[in-house]
Amino acid sequence: MKILVVGAGLTGCSAARLLSDRGHDVSIIEEQGRIGGLCVTNTSPNGIRYEPYGARTFHTDRDRVRRFVQGFDDFNGYVHRKGIMIDGELFAFPIAKSELSRLPHADRIAAELAARSGEIDPTNFETACVSLFGPTLYGLIVENYSRKMWGVCPTDLTAEWAPRRLELRKDDRDGLFRGEWQGLPRGGYSQFLERMVDGIPVGLNDSAFEVDRYDLVISCARIDRLMGYRFGRLQYRSLEFDYVADESWEEERYGTINLPQHPTFFRKCNFKVLHKQESKHNWIQYQRAVPADESNMPMYPVENDRNQQLFDSYLRAACDTPVLPAGRLGLFKYLDMDDAVESAFLVAALAESYPSLSVPARLEAISEIRASV
Ligand SMILES: Cc1cc2nc3c(=O)[nH]c(=O)nc-3n(C[C@H](O)[C@H](O)[C@H](O)COP(=O)(O)OP(=O)(O)OC[C@H]3O[C@@H](n4cnc5c(N)ncnc54)[C@H](O)[C@@H]3O)c2cc1C
Repeated sequence: MKILVVGAGLTGCSAARLLSDRGHDVSIIEEQGRIGGLCVTNTSPNGIRYEPYGARTFHTDRDRVRRFVQGFDDFNGYVHRKGIMIDGELFAFPIAKSELSRLPHADRIAAELAARSGEIDPTNFETACVSLFGPTLYGLIVENYSRKMWGVCPTDLTAEWAPRRLELRKDDRDGLFRGEWQGLPRGGYSQFLERMVDGIPVGLNDSAFEVDRYDLVISCARIDRLMGYRFGRLQYRSLEFDYVADESWEEERYGTINLPQHPTFFRKCNFKVLHKQESKHNWIQYQRAVPADESNMPMYPVENDRNQQLFDSYLRAACDTPVLPAGRLGLFKYLDMDDAVESAFLVAALAESYPSLSVPARLEAISEIRASV
Protein backbone atom coordinates (compact mmCIF):
# COMPACT_ATOMS: atom_id res chain seq x y z
CA MET A 1 0.00 0.00 0.00
CA LYS A 2 1.02 3.60 -0.51
CA ILE A 3 0.72 5.16 2.95
CA LEU A 4 1.20 8.73 4.16
CA VAL A 5 1.81 9.41 7.85
CA VAL A 6 1.01 12.97 8.93
CA GLY A 7 3.15 13.99 11.92
CA ALA A 8 6.64 12.76 12.82
CA GLY A 9 6.13 12.39 16.58
CA LEU A 10 6.64 9.10 18.38
CA THR A 11 3.36 7.60 17.17
CA GLY A 12 3.85 8.61 13.54
CA CYS A 13 7.50 7.51 13.41
CA SER A 14 6.68 4.16 15.06
CA ALA A 15 3.74 3.47 12.72
CA ALA A 16 5.84 4.47 9.71
CA ARG A 17 8.68 2.14 10.75
CA LEU A 18 6.37 -0.82 11.39
CA LEU A 19 4.48 -0.36 8.11
CA SER A 20 7.63 0.20 6.09
CA ASP A 21 9.12 -2.98 7.58
CA ARG A 22 6.01 -4.84 6.41
CA GLY A 23 6.84 -3.77 2.86
CA HIS A 24 4.50 -0.81 2.41
CA ASP A 25 5.52 2.32 0.52
CA VAL A 26 5.51 4.80 3.43
CA SER A 27 6.30 8.50 3.60
CA ILE A 28 5.86 11.10 6.34
CA ILE A 29 5.07 14.81 6.39
CA GLU A 30 5.79 16.95 9.43
CA GLU A 31 4.77 20.57 9.74
CA GLN A 32 7.68 21.54 11.95
CA GLY A 33 11.27 21.85 10.79
CA ARG A 34 12.33 18.76 12.73
CA ILE A 35 11.01 15.37 13.69
CA GLY A 36 10.01 14.35 17.23
CA GLY A 37 6.82 16.22 18.11
CA LEU A 38 6.97 16.48 21.91
CA CYS A 39 9.84 13.96 22.07
CA VAL A 40 12.78 16.25 21.34
CA THR A 41 16.17 16.51 23.03
CA ASN A 42 18.39 19.61 22.83
CA THR A 43 21.67 20.54 24.53
CA SER A 44 21.68 23.43 27.01
CA PRO A 45 24.22 26.28 26.82
CA ASN A 46 26.13 24.60 29.68
CA GLY A 47 26.24 21.24 27.92
CA ILE A 48 23.39 19.26 29.50
CA ARG A 49 20.97 17.24 27.34
CA TYR A 50 17.38 18.32 28.01
CA GLU A 51 13.83 17.96 26.70
CA PRO A 52 12.46 21.42 25.76
CA TYR A 53 8.82 20.24 26.07
CA GLY A 54 9.31 18.80 29.55
CA ALA A 55 11.29 15.94 31.04
CA ARG A 56 10.16 12.51 29.93
CA THR A 57 11.10 9.02 31.05
CA PHE A 58 10.27 6.07 28.83
CA HIS A 59 8.68 3.30 30.90
CA THR A 60 6.81 0.19 29.92
CA ASP A 61 5.72 -3.26 30.96
CA ARG A 62 4.96 -4.26 27.35
CA ASP A 63 7.58 -6.59 25.90
CA ARG A 64 7.00 -5.78 22.25
CA VAL A 65 7.25 -2.04 22.92
CA ARG A 66 10.50 -2.46 24.87
CA ARG A 67 12.04 -4.65 22.16
CA PHE A 68 10.96 -2.21 19.45
CA VAL A 69 12.40 0.94 21.08
CA GLN A 70 15.64 -0.81 22.02
CA GLY A 71 16.21 -1.28 18.31
CA PHE A 72 17.05 2.42 17.94
CA ASP A 73 19.23 3.24 20.95
CA ASP A 74 20.47 1.97 24.30
CA PHE A 75 18.46 3.29 27.22
CA ASN A 76 20.33 4.75 30.18
CA GLY A 77 18.60 2.84 32.99
CA TYR A 78 17.40 5.99 34.76
CA VAL A 79 14.73 5.04 37.31
CA HIS A 80 12.24 7.86 37.71
CA ARG A 81 11.85 9.17 41.24
CA LYS A 82 9.63 12.15 41.82
CA GLY A 83 9.84 14.43 44.85
CA ILE A 84 7.37 16.92 46.29
CA MET A 85 8.16 20.06 48.33
CA ILE A 86 5.82 20.85 51.22
CA ASP A 87 6.58 23.75 53.56
CA GLY A 88 10.21 23.65 52.42
CA GLU A 89 10.58 19.91 53.17
CA LEU A 90 11.25 17.33 50.46
CA PHE A 91 9.21 14.09 50.30
CA ALA A 92 9.21 11.21 47.86
CA PHE A 93 6.03 11.25 45.74
CA PRO A 94 3.70 9.42 46.05
CA ILE A 95 4.13 10.05 49.76
CA ALA A 96 4.72 6.92 51.85
CA LYS A 97 2.47 6.30 54.83
CA SER A 98 5.57 6.15 57.02
CA GLU A 99 6.40 9.74 56.06
CA LEU A 100 3.04 11.24 56.96
CA SER A 101 4.21 12.16 60.46
CA ARG A 102 6.67 14.67 58.94
CA LEU A 103 3.86 16.63 57.30
CA PRO A 104 2.30 19.76 58.80
CA HIS A 105 -1.01 18.95 60.59
CA ALA A 106 0.12 15.29 60.82
CA ASP A 107 -2.36 14.37 63.56
CA ARG A 108 -5.32 15.81 61.66
CA ILE A 109 -4.19 14.04 58.47
CA ALA A 110 -3.92 10.72 60.33
CA ALA A 111 -7.42 11.15 61.81
CA GLU A 112 -8.90 12.01 58.41
CA LEU A 113 -7.21 9.03 56.77
CA ALA A 114 -8.54 6.75 59.51
CA ALA A 115 -12.06 8.11 58.97
CA ARG A 116 -12.16 7.34 55.22
CA SER A 117 -15.01 5.09 54.11
CA GLY A 118 -12.94 3.21 51.51
CA GLU A 119 -15.34 4.29 48.74
CA ILE A 120 -14.18 6.80 46.11
CA ASP A 121 -16.74 9.57 45.59
CA PRO A 122 -16.87 9.85 41.78
CA THR A 123 -18.74 13.19 41.65
CA ASN A 124 -15.65 15.09 40.50
CA PHE A 125 -11.86 15.18 40.87
CA GLU A 126 -11.98 16.99 44.21
CA THR A 127 -14.54 14.68 45.82
CA ALA A 128 -12.62 11.65 44.58
CA CYS A 129 -9.33 12.96 45.96
CA VAL A 130 -10.84 13.96 49.30
CA SER A 131 -12.30 10.49 49.67
CA LEU A 132 -8.82 9.06 48.99
CA PHE A 133 -6.75 11.45 51.14
CA GLY A 134 -9.05 13.41 53.43
CA PRO A 135 -9.39 17.20 53.08
CA THR A 136 -6.11 18.28 54.74
CA LEU A 137 -3.72 16.10 52.75
CA TYR A 138 -5.71 16.84 49.60
CA GLY A 139 -5.30 20.58 50.31
CA LEU A 140 -1.54 20.20 50.82
CA ILE A 141 -0.51 18.07 47.86
CA VAL A 142 -3.27 18.11 45.27
CA GLU A 143 -5.57 21.13 45.30
CA ASN A 144 -3.24 23.97 44.38
CA TYR A 145 -1.17 21.76 42.06
CA SER A 146 -4.33 20.84 40.13
CA ARG A 147 -5.56 24.44 39.96
CA LYS A 148 -2.23 25.52 38.47
CA MET A 149 -2.07 22.52 36.15
CA TRP A 150 -5.61 22.72 34.78
CA GLY A 151 -6.49 26.39 35.31
CA VAL A 152 -9.92 25.46 36.72
CA CYS A 153 -11.39 24.56 40.07
CA PRO A 154 -10.77 20.84 40.79
CA THR A 155 -14.55 20.38 41.16
CA ASP A 156 -14.76 21.07 37.40
CA LEU A 157 -12.45 18.14 36.61
CA THR A 158 -13.52 14.56 36.14
CA ALA A 159 -12.92 12.05 38.94
CA GLU A 160 -11.21 9.62 36.57
CA TRP A 161 -7.74 11.08 37.07
CA ALA A 162 -7.72 10.62 40.83
CA PRO A 163 -7.29 6.86 41.20
CA ARG A 164 -5.02 6.73 38.16
CA ARG A 165 -2.55 9.30 39.43
CA LEU A 166 -2.74 9.32 43.21
CA GLU A 167 -1.92 6.84 45.88
CA LEU A 168 -0.29 6.57 49.26
CA ARG A 169 2.69 4.24 49.29
CA LYS A 170 2.43 1.45 51.82
CA ASP A 171 6.16 0.74 51.65
CA ASP A 172 9.22 2.97 51.39
CA ARG A 173 10.26 2.18 47.82
CA ASP A 174 10.01 5.47 45.99
CA GLY A 175 10.33 4.79 42.24
CA LEU A 176 7.29 6.14 40.36
CA PHE A 177 6.95 3.35 37.76
CA ARG A 178 7.66 0.34 39.91
CA GLY A 179 8.37 -2.93 38.16
CA GLU A 180 8.51 -1.28 34.72
CA TRP A 181 11.44 -1.20 32.34
CA GLN A 182 12.51 2.45 32.11
CA GLY A 183 15.11 4.97 31.05
CA LEU A 184 15.97 7.61 28.47
CA PRO A 185 17.62 6.93 25.10
CA ARG A 186 21.33 7.60 25.62
CA GLY A 187 21.61 9.81 22.56
CA GLY A 188 18.38 11.69 23.36
CA TYR A 189 14.90 11.40 21.86
CA SER A 190 15.68 13.33 18.65
CA GLN A 191 18.43 10.97 17.57
CA PHE A 192 16.34 7.97 18.65
CA LEU A 193 13.47 9.03 16.36
CA GLU A 194 15.76 10.00 13.50
CA ARG A 195 17.14 6.46 13.62
CA MET A 196 13.63 5.04 13.75
CA VAL A 197 12.66 6.63 10.43
CA ASP A 198 15.98 5.91 8.73
CA GLY A 199 15.28 5.26 5.04
CA ILE A 200 11.70 6.58 5.16
CA PRO A 201 11.14 9.87 3.26
CA VAL A 202 10.20 12.70 5.67
CA GLY A 203 8.95 16.02 4.28
CA LEU A 204 9.64 18.67 6.91
CA ASN A 205 7.75 22.00 7.13
CA ASP A 206 4.91 20.33 5.28
CA SER A 207 1.29 19.80 6.28
CA ALA A 208 -0.41 19.65 2.87
CA PHE A 209 -1.54 16.37 1.31
CA GLU A 210 -4.07 15.03 -1.18
CA VAL A 211 -5.89 12.03 0.24
CA ASP A 212 -6.53 10.58 -3.23
CA ARG A 213 -2.83 10.07 -3.88
CA TYR A 214 -2.58 7.42 -1.13
CA ASP A 215 -4.20 4.11 -0.28
CA LEU A 216 -4.23 5.25 3.34
CA VAL A 217 -3.43 8.41 5.30
CA ILE A 218 -2.66 8.04 9.01
CA SER A 219 -3.03 11.40 10.74
CA CYS A 220 -1.33 12.21 14.06
CA ALA A 221 -2.54 15.82 13.77
CA ARG A 222 -5.28 17.23 16.01
CA ILE A 223 -8.54 15.57 15.03
CA ASP A 224 -10.49 18.85 15.35
CA ARG A 225 -8.05 20.54 13.00
CA LEU A 226 -8.17 17.60 10.57
CA MET A 227 -11.94 18.11 10.37
CA GLY A 228 -11.66 21.89 9.92
CA TYR A 229 -12.76 22.69 13.51
CA ARG A 230 -16.32 22.27 12.25
CA PHE A 231 -17.78 21.47 15.68
CA GLY A 232 -15.51 23.80 17.70
CA ARG A 233 -12.09 23.40 19.29
CA LEU A 234 -11.03 20.67 21.66
CA GLN A 235 -9.32 22.19 24.71
CA TYR A 236 -5.77 21.47 25.80
CA ARG A 237 -3.37 22.78 28.40
CA SER A 238 0.15 23.71 27.38
CA LEU A 239 3.32 24.40 29.35
CA GLU A 240 5.76 27.30 29.48
CA PHE A 241 9.28 26.83 30.75
CA ASP A 242 11.90 28.85 32.61
CA TYR A 243 15.46 27.60 32.92
CA VAL A 244 18.08 28.10 35.59
CA ALA A 245 21.68 26.97 35.15
CA ASP A 246 23.63 25.56 38.05
CA GLU A 247 20.98 26.10 40.73
CA SER A 248 21.39 23.77 43.70
CA TRP A 249 19.10 20.72 43.64
CA GLU A 250 17.58 19.24 46.78
CA GLU A 251 18.47 15.58 46.20
CA GLU A 252 20.15 13.95 43.22
CA ARG A 253 17.92 10.87 43.43
CA TYR A 254 14.92 12.89 42.20
CA GLY A 255 14.66 13.80 38.51
CA THR A 256 11.56 15.96 39.00
CA ILE A 257 10.07 17.71 42.03
CA ASN A 258 6.43 18.81 42.34
CA LEU A 259 5.92 22.32 43.72
CA PRO A 260 2.29 22.46 44.89
CA GLN A 261 2.85 25.59 47.01
CA HIS A 262 4.88 27.62 44.49
CA PRO A 263 2.96 30.73 43.32
CA THR A 264 3.68 30.13 39.61
CA PHE A 265 5.36 26.84 38.78
CA PHE A 266 3.95 23.40 39.51
CA ARG A 267 7.07 21.32 38.83
CA LYS A 268 10.81 21.50 38.27
CA CYS A 269 13.12 19.02 36.52
CA ASN A 270 16.84 18.39 36.77
CA PHE A 271 18.04 17.06 33.42
CA LYS A 272 21.49 16.09 34.64
CA VAL A 273 19.78 13.51 36.85
CA LEU A 274 17.43 12.24 34.12
CA HIS A 275 20.18 11.88 31.54
CA LYS A 276 22.61 10.53 34.16
CA GLN A 277 25.10 13.00 32.78
CA GLU A 278 28.51 13.50 34.39
CA SER A 279 28.95 17.26 34.69
CA LYS A 280 29.70 19.90 37.27
CA HIS A 281 26.74 21.83 35.84
CA ASN A 282 22.98 21.61 36.27
CA TRP A 283 20.17 22.58 33.93
CA ILE A 284 16.89 23.03 35.81
CA GLN A 285 13.56 23.49 34.05
CA TYR A 286 10.62 25.14 35.85
CA GLN A 287 7.19 24.35 34.39
CA ARG A 288 4.05 26.45 34.45
CA ALA A 289 0.77 25.42 32.79
CA VAL A 290 -1.12 27.77 30.46
CA PRO A 291 -4.09 27.39 28.09
CA ALA A 292 -3.09 26.00 24.69
CA ASP A 293 -3.60 28.46 21.84
CA GLU A 294 -2.13 29.22 18.42
CA SER A 295 1.19 30.27 19.95
CA ASN A 296 2.10 27.08 21.81
CA MET A 297 1.86 23.28 21.67
CA PRO A 298 -1.35 21.51 22.73
CA MET A 299 -0.11 19.16 25.48
CA TYR A 300 -2.64 17.84 27.96
CA PRO A 301 -6.20 17.19 26.73
CA VAL A 302 -8.71 18.75 29.12
CA GLU A 303 -10.96 15.88 30.15
CA ASN A 304 -14.54 17.03 30.63
CA ASP A 305 -17.98 16.19 29.22
CA ARG A 306 -17.91 18.95 26.62
CA ASN A 307 -14.60 17.76 25.16
CA GLN A 308 -15.63 14.11 25.24
CA GLN A 309 -18.81 14.86 23.28
CA LEU A 310 -16.87 17.01 20.84
CA PHE A 311 -14.29 14.29 20.35
CA ASP A 312 -17.03 11.70 19.74
CA SER A 313 -18.49 13.94 17.00
CA TYR A 314 -15.09 14.42 15.42
CA LEU A 315 -14.29 10.73 15.50
CA ARG A 316 -17.60 9.84 13.81
CA ALA A 317 -16.90 12.46 11.13
CA ALA A 318 -13.30 11.30 10.61
CA CYS A 319 -14.44 7.70 10.16
CA ASP A 320 -16.47 8.89 7.20
CA THR A 321 -13.21 9.85 5.45
CA PRO A 322 -10.29 7.65 4.36
CA VAL A 323 -8.02 9.24 7.02
CA LEU A 324 -7.17 7.15 10.09
CA PRO A 325 -6.69 9.34 13.19
CA ALA A 326 -3.86 8.26 15.53
CA GLY A 327 -1.56 9.40 18.30
CA ARG A 328 -2.32 11.59 21.25
CA LEU A 329 -3.72 14.40 19.07
CA GLY A 330 -5.75 12.17 16.76
CA LEU A 331 -7.24 10.25 19.69
CA PHE A 332 -7.51 13.29 22.00
CA LYS A 333 -6.01 11.26 24.82
CA TYR A 334 -2.98 11.64 27.07
CA LEU A 335 -0.68 8.80 26.00
CA ASP A 336 2.49 7.82 27.77
CA MET A 337 5.26 7.10 25.29
CA ASP A 338 4.80 3.35 25.55
CA ASP A 339 1.07 3.84 24.86
CA ALA A 340 2.01 5.85 21.78
CA VAL A 341 4.23 3.01 20.50
CA GLU A 342 1.64 0.36 21.40
CA SER A 343 -1.02 2.39 19.56
CA ALA A 344 1.29 2.44 16.52
CA PHE A 345 1.44 -1.38 16.61
CA LEU A 346 -2.37 -1.47 16.69
CA VAL A 347 -2.69 1.09 13.90
CA ALA A 348 -0.17 -0.82 11.78
CA ALA A 349 -2.23 -4.00 12.26
CA LEU A 350 -5.40 -2.15 11.23
CA ALA A 351 -3.91 -0.29 8.27
CA GLU A 352 -4.36 -2.90 5.53
CA SER A 353 -8.05 -3.48 6.21
CA TYR A 354 -8.97 0.10 7.13
CA PRO A 355 -9.84 1.48 3.67
CA SER A 356 -12.37 -1.29 3.04
CA LEU A 357 -14.04 -1.15 6.46
CA SER A 358 -17.53 0.32 6.88
CA VAL A 359 -17.84 3.58 8.80
CA PRO A 360 -19.24 1.82 11.95
CA ALA A 361 -16.42 -0.75 11.78
CA ARG A 362 -13.81 2.03 11.56
CA LEU A 363 -15.42 3.77 14.52
CA GLU A 364 -15.34 0.57 16.53
CA ALA A 365 -11.73 -0.22 15.60
CA ILE A 366 -10.39 3.23 16.51
CA SER A 367 -12.46 3.40 19.69
CA GLU A 368 -10.96 0.04 20.68
CA ILE A 369 -7.43 1.30 20.10
CA ARG A 370 -8.19 4.45 22.11
CA ALA A 371 -9.62 2.44 24.98
CA SER A 372 -6.79 -0.08 25.06
CA VAL A 373 -3.87 2.39 25.39
C1 LIG B 1 4.84 17.73 29.43
C2 LIG B 1 4.74 16.29 29.05
C3 LIG B 1 5.57 15.37 29.68
C4 LIG B 1 5.51 14.02 29.31
N1 LIG B 1 6.30 13.14 29.97
C5 LIG B 1 6.22 11.84 29.66
C6 LIG B 1 7.01 10.87 30.37
O1 LIG B 1 7.77 11.20 31.27
N2 LIG B 1 6.87 9.57 30.00
C7 LIG B 1 6.03 9.16 29.02
O2 LIG B 1 5.95 7.96 28.74
N3 LIG B 1 5.29 10.05 28.30
C8 LIG B 1 5.37 11.37 28.60
N4 LIG B 1 4.62 12.28 27.91
C9 LIG B 1 3.80 11.81 26.77
C10 LIG B 1 4.59 11.81 25.42
O3 LIG B 1 5.07 13.08 25.18
C11 LIG B 1 3.64 11.32 24.30
O4 LIG B 1 3.37 9.97 24.52
C12 LIG B 1 4.19 11.43 22.89
O5 LIG B 1 4.74 12.68 22.65
C13 LIG B 1 3.07 11.14 21.89
O6 LIG B 1 3.56 11.26 20.58
P1 LIG B 1 2.59 11.57 19.35
O7 LIG B 1 3.38 11.23 18.15
O8 LIG B 1 1.29 10.89 19.54
O9 LIG B 1 2.30 13.13 19.45
P2 LIG B 1 3.25 14.38 19.16
O10 LIG B 1 4.54 14.19 19.85
O11 LIG B 1 2.48 15.59 19.50
O12 LIG B 1 3.52 14.35 17.60
C14 LIG B 1 2.59 14.83 16.66
C15 LIG B 1 3.37 15.41 15.49
O13 LIG B 1 2.46 15.76 14.45
C16 LIG B 1 2.86 16.99 13.91
N5 LIG B 1 1.69 17.58 13.27
C17 LIG B 1 0.55 17.98 13.88
N6 LIG B 1 -0.34 18.44 12.97
C18 LIG B 1 0.23 18.29 11.76
C19 LIG B 1 -0.19 18.55 10.43
N7 LIG B 1 -1.42 19.03 10.18
N8 LIG B 1 0.65 18.29 9.42
C20 LIG B 1 1.92 17.79 9.67
N9 LIG B 1 2.36 17.53 10.90
C21 LIG B 1 1.54 17.76 11.94
C22 LIG B 1 3.38 17.77 15.10
O14 LIG B 1 4.21 18.84 14.70
C23 LIG B 1 4.12 16.68 15.85
O15 LIG B 1 5.47 16.58 15.41
C24 LIG B 1 4.63 13.61 28.29
C25 LIG B 1 3.78 14.55 27.66
C26 LIG B 1 3.82 15.86 28.05
C27 LIG B 1 2.89 16.84 27.41
